[in-house]
Amino acid sequence: MRSAAGVGGLLAALLLAGCAGEDAAPEPDPSPQVAPEPAGSGGSGPSSARTDHDGPTTPTARPPRRVSPDDARVGIALEAVRHLAGRIGPRPGTSPAFHRAADWVQRRLERSGWQVRRQRFRAPAGYSWTAPVPAGPSVNLVATRGDVRRGEPWLLVGAHLDTVPGAPGAEDDASGIGVLLTLADALADRRTRLPVVLVAFGAEEPRGPTDDDHHYGSRAFVAGLGPAQRRTLRGMVALDRVGVGPVLPIGSPAQPSPLRDELAAAARRAGVRFVTETGQRSSDHWSFARVGLPGVRLGGTPYDGYHSPGDVPSVVDRAQLARTARTLLAWLR
Ligand SMILES: [Zn+2]
Repeated sequence: MRSAAGVGGLLAALLLAGCAGEDAAPEPDPSPQVAPEPAGSGGSGPSSARTDHDGPTTPTARPPRRVSPDDARVGIALEAVRHLAGRIGPRPGTSPAFHRAADWVQRRLERSGWQVRRQRFRAPAGYSWTAPVPAGPSVNLVATRGDVRRGEPWLLVGAHLDTVPGAPGAEDDASGIGVLLTLADALADRRTRLPVVLVAFGAEEPRGPTDDDHHYGSRAFVAGLGPAQRRTLRGMVALDRVGVGPVLPIGSPAQPSPLRDELAAAARRAGVRFVTETGQRSSDHWSFARVGLPGVRLGGTPYDGYHSPGDVPSVVDRAQLARTARTLLAWLR
């Protein structure tokens, strides 16, 4: 436990310390554990119960093969939608419900063997959609597998954990968090082509009318990246409203977008029907793209329950969650 926590802190420092202390960079862990011991052993959750992967692994062995789209267990995403939207309910970015949701998601990530660091930030008071929201502390959950190295390429997948007031947020965005947890599970004992960081962002929803009045968590995350980390980020994908619709929207702020092309090619390989969109700035990928980093959004099909009490688990469709997860796993493979 202690050494795992130490590694987690070290990697978090590598990931988030910015440009300070380049010379004081800690030595890479000579024998990184790709899938560390989960915090709660013998749990009854999805990860500890998994039996669908062939072959035993030893704790220090390199994962036996690359992840594949078929590794996606979408039931994990549906469970997250039911828990976050059905049990916790509306969770504006500084609310007690938001922080309960963050605790739950952190436990899920750790159960799948990820090391989670909390990045705290403050969100201002404002007017969120139709209701006032107070200023207060919010948090990003930053999850790694211990394989991110300073100066080497990495990928990021994120989704936002908060909702507007009064909306249970099943589609917006428990669906994205659910797919994030599906990835965490699928990658627990599988290799990816590059190290991956998973982030559950706080306070994405608007608190005012301008482009600086939303996406607080992802902007705090980007602000914490140093020059080397920005230079080596090969792609950021935001999962936002990924459980509604017959085809998967793949949207970029501008064209051309090599990253969007990569995701489209991955969707093809995974056998997923998709549509590409340009001018997409309405999620956390925009915090990256607006400073010149590669960012793309998956999801965003319009639906009736948007930002309302009608955003309940029954609006979310398992097939669209599967399209999203399969596309991401094909991209990460
Ligand atoms: Zn959203």
